[in-house]
Amino acid sequence: MAESAVPLLSSLKTIVGEANVLTEDADVAPYVTDWRNAFHGRARAVVRPGTTAEVAAVVRTCAEHRAPIVPQGGNTSLCGGATPHANGSEIVLSLARLARVRAVDAANATLTVEAGVPLARVQQAADEAGLFFPLSLAAEGSCTIGGNLSTNAGGTAVLRFGNARDLVIGLEVVLADGRVWEGLKGLRKDNTGYDLKQLFVGSEGTLGIITAAVLKLFPKPRVSATALAALADVDAAVALLSQLKQALGDRLTGFELISHHALDLTRAAFPAFADPLPGHPWYALVQADDASDGSPLAAQLEAALGAAVESGTARDATIAQSAAQAEALWSLREHIPEAQRREGHNIKHDISLAVSRIPAFLREAQVRLDAAAPGLRYMVFGHLGDGNLHYNLRPPVNVALEVFRRDTARLNRIVYDLVTEMGGSFSAEHGIGQLKREALTHYKAEVEIDLMRRIKRALDPGSLLNPGKVV
Ligand SMILES: Cc1cc2nc3c(=O)[nH]c(=O)nc-3n(C[C@H](O)[C@H](O)[C@H](O)COP(=O)(O)OP(=O)(O)OC[C@H]3O[C@@H](n4cnc5c(N)ncnc54)[C@H](O)[C@@H]3O)c2cc1C
Repeated sequence: MAESAVPLLSSLKTIVGEANVLTEDADVAPYVTDWRNAFHGRARAVVRPGTTAEVAAVVRTCAEHRAPIVPQGGNTSLCGGATPHANGSEIVLSLARLARVRAVDAANATLTVEAGVPLARVQQAADEAGLFFPLSLAAEGSCTIGGNLSTNAGGTAVLRFGNARDLVIGLEVVLADGRVWEGLKGLRKDNTGYDLKQLFVGSEGTLGIITAAVLKLFPKPRVSATALAALADVDAAVALLSQLKQALGDRLTGFELISHHALDLTRAAFPAFADPLPGHPWYALVQADDASDGSPLAAQLEAALGAAVESGTARDATIAQSAAQAEALWSLREHIPEAQRREGHNIKHDISLAVSRIPAFLREAQVRLDAAAPGLRYMVFGHLGDGNLHYNLRPPVNVALEVFRRDTARLNRIVYDLVTEMGGSFSAEHGIGQLKREALTHYKAEVEIDLMRRIKRALDPGSLLNPGKVV
């Protein structure tokens, strides 16, 4: 341990208790590697405060010692945002012990929770209040609401409810100097100046540390319908999306595109999954929900899909006949990232475009990539309803993973150039972290980068909060 670290660590132990300052390699290990095992860092210590006051005292103390801080929730970031750098100078500040549900206001349809509450627990607390919190993603058992807000997470219901940004109406934030901004208001209207909370949402721990949030709740779905449609191509998927929006209105909650490559890989990794509609190139997983008891939703979805099959938009469709069947369809979709992880290195892109431009993007991207790397295998799936695709590339069969890995920058450039030409985003959901900083400076307009840097300097002049991430 470096000599200068002793007083810092002693002070931190005084604030949070000795048991909550971890320094042994075995204790620290789970906090310094990311979920994909792609980023490996070192930390001076992992500190686990249990209250907002403790977070504030930890930040103040770190500021006095000029010790940089990496905030961490569930450590499920897919861009190395929560992983410290390799130089070992940083303190990982885990929010996991801030895990209380502070208040439920059913009449106001709001829930006040601390940052370390796992997303699944937030959903459960809403359910217990007779209401519904719609943010949902495959990592919901591990990720925390603080991490969801800090990354402006999307997930499977953005089509209807928006991103995490749209689901928060109040925040409590510890600033870089240790002051606490108490913005935990349950107001749906508040035009008293700049909307400060939105600065922190999606800032990946670089502007402040979220310690609690007021979340919007919604009427609980009483009737749900889940279906899988088989499609000839992605043009058909876009057409089906429009038809279902027309038929179901805002009861269409999710519309996920799945290529047969993604389905095949997942079924190979998890053979227990059935193949509901074998032999088609593309699929759409459709979710619709209605808060009215006795809603004819399933019949309406069935009629809309029947019409789509009749008109040739869809090749076939199946509607889940039970909650278990619906869960199995979603589980298949949610196991795709894990199947990819088990397979080994993929070159991943988390892109977004106007939904209408996605078919053209896929055609042109394949032309350019096939020319650059013949034999490349495509692994496309994602939230088509939001214009967001996980556009992932697998190595040609005869190319070793290690060789393929070396091609990452070149292939990224081809994909991101095209996304940019078509007015899209090179990072729709997962953020920038340490993975996409170069792309940020390359593809963002100078004026945007300048504004982002000015905001960072204004809120964190000493660059103590998650340095080397985002900007
Ligand atoms: C299997 C899997 C599926 C996923 N699916 C989706 C998906 O569908 N949609 C999507 O958007 N994302 C998805 N993700 C990535 C997603 O960003 C995270 O799962 C989640 O939002 C991060 O929460 P976390 O608590 O794990 O945050 P962490 O990974 O711990 O941190 C993420 C970032 O936020 C910062 N941070 C964390 N907590 C705080 C806080 N309290 N205050 C300030 N900064 C903080 C960290 O410094 C880091 O920069 C997925 C990840 C996995 C592993």
